Amino acid sequence: SLAQIGVTGLAVMGRNLARNFARNGFTVAVHNRSPQKMTSLIEEHGDEGDFIGCESLEDFVAALERPRKVVIMVQAGKATDAVIDSLVPLLDQGDIIVDAGNAHFPDTRRREAALKEKGLHFVGSGVSGGEEGALLGPSIMPGGPAESYETLGPILEKISAKVDGVPCCTHVGPDGAGHFVKMVHNGIEYADMQLIGEAYQLLRDGLDLSPSEIGDIFADWNKGDLESFLIEITAEVLKQVDSRTGKPLVDVIVDQAGQKGTGRWTVQSALDLGVPVTGIAEATFARAISSQLAQREAARDVLSASTSEWHIHNREGFIEDVRLALYASKVVAYAQGFDQIQAASEEYGWNVDRGAMARIWRGGCIIRARFLNRITEAYERDGELASLLVDPYFANEVSAGVGAWRRVVSMAALTGVPTPAFSSSLAYYDALRSDRLPAALIQGQRDFFGAHTYKRVDAEGTFHTLWSGDRSEVEA
Ligand code: NDP
Repeated sequence: SLAQIGVTGLAVMGRNLARNFARNGFTVAVHNRSPQKMTSLIEEHGDEGDFIGCESLEDFVAALERPRKVVIMVQAGKATDAVIDSLVPLLDQGDIIVDAGNAHFPDTRRREAALKEKGLHFVGSGVSGGEEGALLGPSIMPGGPAESYETLGPILEKISAKVDGVPCCTHVGPDGAGHFVKMVHNGIEYADMQLIGEAYQLLRDGLDLSPSEIGDIFADWNKGDLESFLIEITAEVLKQVDSRTGKPLVDVIVDQAGQKGTGRWTVQSALDLGVPVTGIAEATFARAISSQLAQREAARDVLSASTSEWHIHNREGFIEDVRLALYASKVVAYAQGFDQIQAASEEYGWNVDRGAMARIWRGGCIIRARFLNRITEAYERDGELASLLVDPYFANEVSAGVGAWRRVVSMAALTGVPTPAFSSSLAYYDALRSDRLPAALIQGQRDFFGAHTYKRVDAEGTFHTLWSGDRSEVEA
């Protein structure tokens, strides 16, 4: 019999995705450029379901029922284009190509447009959850034509993670929408991790606790509003003891954080769209600072500290303050990420349902969290919500923690603990709620040096002051 779906590219991700399809009862055709990955998959896991092993791309395409559904899981970039180019001549009108790799969304838009002309459906799909997610149930964010979701959707939903019986997969929107949302998901992940890192550092420096004791605090936090995969694994990492030295593992890991580029893409796109994603940007830059060895080395003994001593009288109160600051900053980071999704949705005509995105992130992916239910509810209450921060639930939650947030950020500044994400999130919050921003002065400066004009609070029209003349005002 023919296969309902095919996977080409059987490195860790593709192999596990193929096994996931098979374990869920689908007959899956499997192919890899170099055949040994295909043969070893069938040797090792062939008993998990119905696999059709294919040595050539021709055999692979011939093994699929129509409309053919081909999942490409190869290296993002040139490899993806190469595989698409070899597949196209073998496919027929109405067949569906799914790119489940980490493509950059402009590439997905380009590929979708090119394949549409050939009568093929191209679905750029975000897949989150890493190796384990691919096998046991990832969060899946498919874009591409809505029509393709009718046949593809049920298959992807079947293999996705489930929360309360609801699949963590939905049609995100046309062309590059799926990969865009996956990108922002990763950006939010950067912000979340940085915020957790800042909370850890404050607890460590402020209370002189061991990593393992801080791990206990995170484990405790994981029972409340902050419950999430990232908080859970933070506790695990902090409690890990290095087998070679007996020290906490975190103390023997070099303090340079790597990045594969999705944080950078998110920030680049946000700059293009004019959306302030300060949390994600600070998190991305914080990783960059950590890796600037020359600057750190040169600065260490040169830059003076002039810091204050820590004075914490109420240890429990401080821990609660840090928790509240973390929660409030996290709401800001998510609010900004959802603003970016909305801006792109308007720019590209995607019509993305933000509440549904929070719903499909509840399971399978790295930012899975209890808190996402609240985001879905917020967008269900008001699909046009201007900012997550003004939803009554979140406004109330964040207001309750503002005092704590201010204490933590000011204490960090006084004692010299860098908290770029905590601080910038608070600045963003204050900027949003300000009656008047110093942008009025900036607009005055712009008018002074560049005749960029300004609007008045008390009259219609556009104005310019004759700065180098008699300084009277003219209508521009
Ligand atoms: P890799 O990114 O390491 O890619 C290796 C696979 O690509 C192999 O099957 C290889 O074939 C194939 N390949 C490379 N170049 C070509 C080419 N020119 N033509 C045909 N095939 C080619 O595999 P991963 O499994 O790590 O990742 C697959 C995709 O998933 C990537 O886009 C990656 O970014 C993404 N990813 C997603 C993760 C997530 O959590 N969502 C986690 C990890 C990855 P061969 O064996 O013949 O060399």
